[in-house]
Amino acid sequence: MRIVNGQRLPWWRNFSSSLLDFIYPPSCELCSTAISNGRYLCENCVNALPRIKAPFCDHCGEMFEGHIESNFICPNCSKLDYAFSFARPVLLSSDHARTIIHDFKYRRSIHLARDLATILCEAFEDPRLQLAREQKWTLVPVPLYWKRKQHRHFNQSQEIAKHVAQMLGLPLCDALTRLRATPTQTHLSRKQRLLNLKGAIQISRRGEAYFRENPSGGVILIDDVFTTGSTVQECAKTLRKNLCENIVVVTVMRG
Ligand SMILES: [Zn+2]
Ligand SMILES: [Zn+2]
Repeated sequence: MRIVNGQRLPWWRNFSSSLLDFIYPPSCELCSTAISNGRYLCENCVNALPRIKAPFCDHCGEMFEGHIESNFICPNCSKLDYAFSFARPVLLSSDHARTIIHDFKYRRSIHLARDLATILCEAFEDPRLQLAREQKWTLVPVPLYWKRKQHRHFNQSQEIAKHVAQMLGLPLCDALTRLRATPTQTHLSRKQRLLNLKGAIQISRRGEAYFRENPSGGVILIDDVFTTGSTVQECAKTLRKNLCENIVVVTVMRG
């Protein structure tokens, strides 16, 4: 019997994954080194990905060079009013980090979800997230419009959040839903992105029922990348208006 993430897999899963491993021996997505522990990124490559380290902005995680002793907020955030307490990304934007996330999302490399979740869990070493862990706040993935999910076959944030829930023993709820497709946001300013998203995110039926039965101390919004923060801002506004006051954001990378 093969045990993965503490769960016993049925015999046929054991057989099929062993067979697949035999036909296509797993190798690191970045350096092609053979690996065998159910991962798709080798330890050397994961360790080499640049992390966000202090000093960084207390609100958005933007890292700064130099020596800053006290807590600080970057010039960009000092002009903004977020509906969440802070965002804590783990990785700096780098060629390798962008490649992994791009492959995960656009090349349907769903098998990378667990490795990305392992990286995301490093955020919980931040003392500001200790309370959320102790009080078992609910993980809520950023939703994807159903048509986009159908095209991509999965919601990247949901897949990461599922693994994080298992790894940290936190509850998970798909509490949000996206009502309409929002055109690609890559080339839009933050203001345009916010307009683009206005009213696009609502509480799902599942979310309403879940929070009615399990009043949560807070929500940990999960996404792959934090760029301008406009998507998580819209999610946090919706959550704050309807379900819960305490919201933090955790992402794999700072875009
Ligand atoms: Zn590697
Ligand atoms: Zn900032």
